[in-house]
Amino acid sequence: MLVSIIVPCYHEEAALPFFLREMRKTMAALSGEFGCEVELLFVDDGSRDRTLELLRGFAGEDKRVRYLSFSRNFGKEAAMYAGLRHARGDYVAIMDADLQHPPAMLREMYRGLRSGEYDCVAARRENRAGEPPVRSFFARQFYKVINRISDTEIVEGACDFRMMKRRMVDAIVSMGEYNRFSKGIFSWVGFRTKWLPYENVERVAGETKWSFWKLLLYSIQGIVGFSTAPLALASVLGLVLCVGSLIMVVYIIIKTLLFGDPVGGWPSMACMVLFLGGVQLFCMGILGQYLAKTYLETKRRPIYILAETDEETAHEP
Ligand code: UDP
Ligand code: MG
Repeated sequence: MLVSIIVPCYHEEAALPFFLREMRKTMAALSGEFGCEVELLFVDDGSRDRTLELLRGFAGEDKRVRYLSFSRNFGKEAAMYAGLRHARGDYVAIMDADLQHPPAMLREMYRGLRSGEYDCVAARRENRAGEPPVRSFFARQFYKVINRISDTEIVEGACDFRMMKRRMVDAIVSMGEYNRFSKGIFSWVGFRTKWLPYENVERVAGETKWSFWKLLLYSIQGIVGFSTAPLALASVLGLVLCVGSLIMVVYIIIKTLLFGDPVGGWPSMACMVLFLGGVQLFCMGILGQYLAKTYLETKRRPIYILAETDEETAHEP
């Protein structure tokens, strides 16, 4: 049995030494307890700090460590996809490099898979302690909205920290979409998932790469990727406005017949024109979102570009 552990890294020079030290212990524990082999597959997501240098060093010292390095920053989604494609294990795990995902949980995950009852064991955040309240609020709203309008269930608090069987990995790799939203993809492929609760811990060193803005864009990507409900919004709004305006026409005709037609109503007219213009632009914007994603998908660009892997450096004289 080979277990691959995929670790996306972007500017993680501060956290990596701690991470490797912890992982060495966990790998020893895994091998000792279950007799399996473990490979660590780091994916350097185009870091411009010393991350790649550290990874080269790790791979040189330890045969169990492999790495891939991107030509630029392609994002964590791309890094996870590259890792899944290159992992050789029968079981494949994904975890962050900042030790926010406790390595000790890997053993529990492995045990869950070995029991044969599950195809995937994933960590799930029970609470959002230590997070800015505004961010928690928006996160909660996001899960509410997306689960209402999408057929794919997006589990609240589910994170990318998980271990999967080969079959599930192959299913995920077969989804070669350019606009990737893993929370949706993991759930879309199905399979039996066991959820392990875990507490959020502070990252060991360095800082988070997710700004509020980045998270907002990511959530829009999730909605556009896994629901077409916003497209129907235009029709619904249009229908409501049509009915409303019909009622108003009848009202105005009756009023004119009864009281004549004194000039007036300019301000309300201006408001209506503005309102309708706004609604139309908003709906066009939604259309535009889907069009843009379709445009990018049809280009069939690669999801990531490799600049270097450990195999090449190993063969260099
Ligand atoms: N990461 C990445 N590419 C990016 C951003 C992040 O590979 O563009 C990696 C990062 O190195 C870390 C993981 O994704 O291993 C999670 O990132 P981070 O800890 O910044 O996010 P948070 O835990 O705050 O959600
Ligand atoms: Mg983190």
